Amino acid sequence: MRGAGNGRVTFPVSIYMAKTIVALSTPSGLGAISIVRLSGDRSIELLKRAFKPLGGSELQANMLTLGNIELGGIHDRVMAVIFPAPRSYTGEDMAEVHCHGSPEIVVRLIRGFISLGASPAEAGEFTKRAFLNGKISLDEAEAVSDLINARSQAQINAAYSAAVGRAHEAVKRIYDDILSVVAALEAAIDYPEEDIEEETAERVLGRLEGAREALRALIETYGQGEKVRSGIKVAIVGAPNAGKSSLLNRLLGRDRAIVSAEAGTTRDTIEESYEYRGMLFTLVDTAGLRKATDEAEIEGVKRSEAAAKQADIVLRITDLSDPISADVRTDAPVIEVYNKSDIANPHSGGINISALTGEGVDALKEEMYRVAVGANIETGGAMLTNARHYGLAVSALSELDLGISDVGLHSADCTLVGLHGALRYLGEITGSNATEDVIGEVFSKFCVGK
Ligand code: GDP
Repeated sequence: MRGAGNGRVTFPVSIYMAKTIVALSTPSGLGAISIVRLSGDRSIELLKRAFKPLGGSELQANMLTLGNIELGGIHDRVMAVIFPAPRSYTGEDMAEVHCHGSPEIVVRLIRGFISLGASPAEAGEFTKRAFLNGKISLDEAEAVSDLINARSQAQINAAYSAAVGRAHEAVKRIYDDILSVVAALEAAIDYPEEDIEEETAERVLGRLEGAREALRALIETYGQGEKVRSGIKVAIVGAPNAGKSSLLNRLLGRDRAIVSAEAGTTRDTIEESYEYRGMLFTLVDTAGLRKATDEAEIEGVKRSEAAAKQADIVLRITDLSDPISADVRTDAPVIEVYNKSDIANPHSGGINISALTGEGVDALKEEMYRVAVGANIETGGAMLTNARHYGLAVSALSELDLGISDVGLHSADCTLVGLHGALRYLGEITGSNATEDVIGEVFSKFCVGK
């Protein structure tokens, strides 16, 4: 495998691309339309064997054409399109059939293409081929997967920005800056007799420090990026009957949890999400924190303690009309919430609400955003949201630090060891030198048909 100059990869593709693959690319189940996709050398030939355009017209590249398909024992009136290589998503010849959205039609069409010689696609195989053909970098491919799985405005924005290459460009600029220093240092070592413009230690240092600053700034975006990607986990804890389930329903804006005057109704934990200012908040309603008596409740209390430990923020609910404050063991920030303000006097500190009437709940949502997220999140720029990228960027930074600390002290060889280390880690982010295992791992998380 060989790294191409733009951080995308060129592979001996002809070996990999031997087979033509087929899969459903839209969700399975009933729908108006389903799309069956083919990629590989024989895609266009296989489509043409089954599909006849209406009125004697011809299939044209990148144009939907109406016609009839006869394959796998069925007929359907469909739209079909071909994307000849290399101007396709995978970089190979591709074909699509937009058929009626019946699972029976889809299964028969796919079986039909398999009987003509296609193979069923593996999870993520279309995008993996796009990567192997140098159409997309590994980090951009991962962003495509994030975009498909996005569940909030901020997740969509961040994944889109990554999918169109903003973080990729930032990584690549840092990579190129380091590479240019490496090239100059290596030239000076390899051809000492030639009249190469000498890289003074000061200039090398200046260029590497610039790259280090850019890398640090990118790494710093991960704190926010991780919140965008994973959402904010909120544990709601408090004594039984304090109003935890009522508050959960209020925050979600719908009835999800059972509200009951009988203490100990919520025995299991319930997880549901809502979006506020573009961020995903996942609420965990837990069993009341009290001395549990029956077995199911004991298990529920255990889970509620675990949820509080894992949460990003904890809402501790106290019933103003019966103020028993629950013990919470957590490292996360705790927001004190006083409930039932409609029937009792408010508390002087914390946030007073009525889960019953909704009073104070908007202020609580804002406080939760302030505590968990802080300043407004800017998702349009280069942002690291992926733990794999973050780990590699941190490793690249420590290698770069090593390289920088050696500038001027030792021979250029010492500096080069650190710089090569940094390049290796940065290259793993974009995939230009990722191992087969890493690539396999990344694409195994994709769905079939993507
Ligand atoms: P949990 O055990 O902490 O989940 O508490 P629930 O949400 O099941 O509520 C316990 C009882 O308190 C129910 O009868 C609710 O209707 C009542 N309740 C909850 N929130 C309020 C509130 O803000 N005001 C009043 N008056 N009653 C509430």
